[in-house]
This record gives sequence, C-alpha cells and structure tokens, in this order.
Amino acid sequence: MPVMSFDDIRKYRRCPRAYRLSVVSDDWRLSLSECMDISLRRTIARADGRRVLGHPVLKDEALAMFRDEWDECVQDSLAGDGQDPMEYFRRGARCIERFVEFTKNSDGSELMSFDVRGVQNLPYGRSVRIRVDEVYRRGDSAVICKYVTEPFESASAGITDEDESLVSALWAVYSLPGIERVVLQWRYLSTGEERECRVRKQSMDEAVENLSREMADMSSDKSFPPRPSESCSLCPHRNLCDSYQTTVSDSVPDRQEMDRVLAEYADLDEKIVALSSRVEMLKGRREALKERIVAYSDSVRRDAVYGDGVVVDIRRYKRAELPKDKTAVISRLKETGQYGSLSMVNYSRLRSDIIRGVADPEIAKMATIIPDIRVRVRRRSG
Ligand code: SF4
Repeated sequence: MPVMSFDDIRKYRRCPRAYRLSVVSDDWRLSLSECMDISLRRTIARADGRRVLGHPVLKDEALAMFRDEWDECVQDSLAGDGQDPMEYFRRGARCIERFVEFTKNSDGSELMSFDVRGVQNLPYGRSVRIRVDEVYRRGDSAVICKYVTEPFESASAGITDEDESLVSALWAVYSLPGIERVVLQWRYLSTGEERECRVRKQSMDEAVENLSREMADMSSDKSFPPRPSESCSLCPHRNLCDSYQTTVSDSVPDRQEMDRVLAEYADLDEKIVALSSRVEMLKGRREALKERIVAYSDSVRRDAVYGDGVVVDIRRYKRAELPKDKTAVISRLKETGQYGSLSMVNYSRLRSDIIRGVADPEIAKMATIIPDIRVRVRRRSG
C-alpha cells in the first residue's frame, strides 16, 4: 500500500468514492475549503520562514502572502453549488489576521521546525505521511502546534483530528533529540482560541494501532462505494461521480449534444492557443529581420530603406524602463511629493481588491460587479 496522508484518510472516511476519484482522476480538483486550508498553511510556512530569521511578518505582509497563495490555489478548485469563492477568501484572510495575533509576541527563536513533512511507520508495515505546522521548544517539552482552519472546529467542540496529532507526537518523540515530553497544541484560526494537552505514550500507541487497522481496511477496499450525503453538492469530484450524476440527471442537457459542444469548444480553444504561439513566432522572425534592416541602414547611413514597393523608416529614440519592483521608485515619488501627479493606478489590482472585498468601500461602490464565467479546457487521457 502506498504511503497515505491524513488528508487521504479523512477523505476516505467522508466518502470512499471521493477518495478514489481524488487519487485516480486526471481531472483533479480541490474543494474551496481545501483551497483555503492549503493557502493558509503555505502562508503560515512562509511567515514562519521569515520569523526564524528574526523578521516578524506584519498583518499586511501576511495578507499579501495569503493573497498570492490563494490566487495560485484557487485555479485548481471547483466551487460547490451556491458557494462563493470570495467568501472563502475573506474567511482565510480573517484566519491570517488571527495567526499574526497568535505570533505577535514571538521573535521566532523558540521555533525548532515548521512546515514539517515526515513519514511515521506504523505497526504491520504501514506508514503514514504526517505534516506539522510548527514545533517549538518549551523547557524539556516539544510543542506540536496545529493551526485549525475549519470554521466549525473550536476548542469547546473538542478535537476532531486527534489521531493525526497523536501520530505526529510519536514522530516527534522519535525524531527530535533531547525531548522528554510532547505537548499537543491546537490554535483555532476561526475563533482565536487555543487548546493544549500533554500526551501519554499509551495514547500514542493506541492511535497508531487503530490507524494501522483502519488503513488495512482501506487497502482491502476494491469497490470504493459512494457515500452520498448533503455535502455532495460541494464535492469537487461530483462531475465524475455516477452516484451524484444520477441525482441531477433530469437537469443535465442532452448528452450527445453536449459531446458535440465540448468537442467544438476544445477545437476552438486549441486553435486560439495555436494562433497565439504562431503570433509569438512571427514576432520573433520580425525582430530578426528588423535587426538586419537596421544594420543595413547603419552601413549606408540612411534612416529610410527602400525596397520593392515598400519603404521602411528607422527612427531612433530613447525609452526609460523602470525596475520591476517599484517600491523604491514609489517611495522616492512620495518623498518628493510627485506621487499624486505621476503615479498610475494599478487598475487590475484595484479590480481584484474590489472583488475580494478589501478595496476602499467608497471605490468599491463605484464599481459594477458583473458575473462572468471562465472555462478552461483540458484533454482527458484514456
Ligand atoms: S459526489 Fe458525493 S458520493 Fe460522489 S464522490 Fe462526491 S461525496 Fe462521494
């Protein structure tokens, strides 16, 4: 059996078919909840990378990091019926603000490790992949910290991923030299609460034993039965799930007609991509010819070259290019009072801020929000 992750195990627990589709499908997608979770963990890892170097990350910087990670991740996600991606983005942004609150008094020196990925061996020759957000030292104890991103999880509701934490604790015992005790810590990013508990060796042993048995059941499953539930409409694999499709078949357009539409769409999409690369190639050829024309005009000392039915004028001028990172330029413009008269508004960024709900409300009011649909074509193999 391949080494599994706790994400796989959680997915299997919710629905074996969803787990199977997530592993074998070439149309792999994330749910918005997974997208938010991954973006948050990547942001926390980046911020911790700065913290251990003694550079605490401020709220605005952390939010900018989250925005980058979200932008990348959301491309692979499939929103559930009625779900609004921006709602998840805003929820993630609030989580990042809480992360900054959690770490505001830390200079990072207590961190032993962060964004840890390891493999823990289990009984009966099985292994599981573990992921720990942060490990830090407190006296002779290692604190294994997990940031909880799900909004419905809170300290008062109890711990839902206890086995993952216990197996991570076992990994810490075997992997971190000089550690006498392990403390598990959960930081709830939706509520700002924190919860801790000390771990007993017996609990860890029981957790790995139970997990190993559960993985044995998973590996003997050959049918991966669907487990329909109310959350099917949010499942990122529902388009490939027969069980879900039969429940909505009445509203699905005629299959043959849709095959024809999809084939035509894919055909047009490929033609556009092919044309774009041809344009690039033609531009390259034109550039090479331009160099030859300019070299010829230099050699004959003329600024116009006449050909058979064509004249090419050569005009030399100067062009200023600013550095890609405009921070220094902008701060200089501000220092010298030129910013207001010279700077240009970054409209694409402004549009993005409005959609995310982080723009100045007065400016947001001036915008008209028009729903649009982006369709991306991917060929499926087999
Ligand atoms: S749509 Fe429902 S039954 Fe189908 S894979 Fe997803 S969760 Fe499972």
